[in-house]
Amino acid sequence: MKPPVDDAPNAISRGLGVLGDEWSLQLLRAAHQGATRFSQFQQRLPISAASLATRLSLLSDEGLFTRQIYQEHPIRAEYILSPRGRATWPILLSIWDWERTWGDERTAELPLMRHSECGHEFAPRLVCAGCDEPVELGRVLAVWGPAGGWSRSLPETGTRRRSRPSRTPEQFPETMAVFGNRWSSVVVGAVFQGLRHYAEFESALTIPSNVLSERLRVLVERGFLEVVDSGSARAEYRLTAKGAAFFPVIALTLLWSDQWFADPGGAAMSWQHGDHPLVARLDCDHCDTALTAAAIDVVPRT
Ligand SMILES: [Zn+2]
Ligand SMILES: [Zn+2]
Repeated sequence: MKPPVDDAPNAISRGLGVLGDEWSLQLLRAAHQGATRFSQFQQRLPISAASLATRLSLLSDEGLFTRQIYQEHPIRAEYILSPRGRATWPILLSIWDWERTWGDERTAELPLMRHSECGHEFAPRLVCAGCDEPVELGRVLAVWGPAGGWSRSLPETGTRRRSRPSRTPEQFPETMAVFGNRWSSVVVGAVFQGLRHYAEFESALTIPSNVLSERLRVLVERGFLEVVDSGSARAEYRLTAKGAAFFPVIALTLLWSDQWFADPGGAAMSWQHGDHPLVARLDCDHCDTALTAAAIDVVPRT
């Protein structure tokens, strides 16, 4: 039975449902770098055929890939990024930047990125297109929109992909730990919305308490959150500098969700920057111009 409209999963639920998954993020990254065929994804990622097939179906069902048959006997398909899928590039770029700044030693091997317009290696900088100022966590106000609220924003349960992948992806280990799982991504979103106490998470998120404890423990262990007054009733989870630096990934993910899974009733979240609506843009920190996907060259490490 379909839930009533005002209780249906909203854009955030759908966006986190598809991006809050370690393999989906890896597949999108490979797709942005040119992979389209089953065999090409398999060459690039240590993923089992079953996991790959499931993710390709999910990303196609959610409209991030367009499936195109290129051979009839036997049937073979290519998975081409759709506009909705292509629009994830700022999220992936922000993950790359956060990972190389805050990740462990494995991420020292991440490729470099060059901005073809200025010819320099760069870092993306989140700015507001409304005022051209950098977007800082403390100056942005994100409140629920007409389609918002926790109950509608939780990733759908009864996931088709509950089992852990057989092999852990090697790239973006930190991001995967804090974001590559539906519940983790929700807990991280709640922290950015200002929830601090265990009881607040528990009542807002209606998340099984063993899952909540486990997710919070991982976030603390990874240096994303710190616990203040640990052990007391006032124990508080706060973002560390590393956690706060993840803000562009969260903001871009939620904005992408609202844009591409738009609800007729309005946005799931409404964003204000100072006295005007936030319009997110990524600039090159070297030449201060807006980045586009076409102007970013990946420079492999030699
Ligand atoms: Zn602004
Ligand atoms: Zn530049």
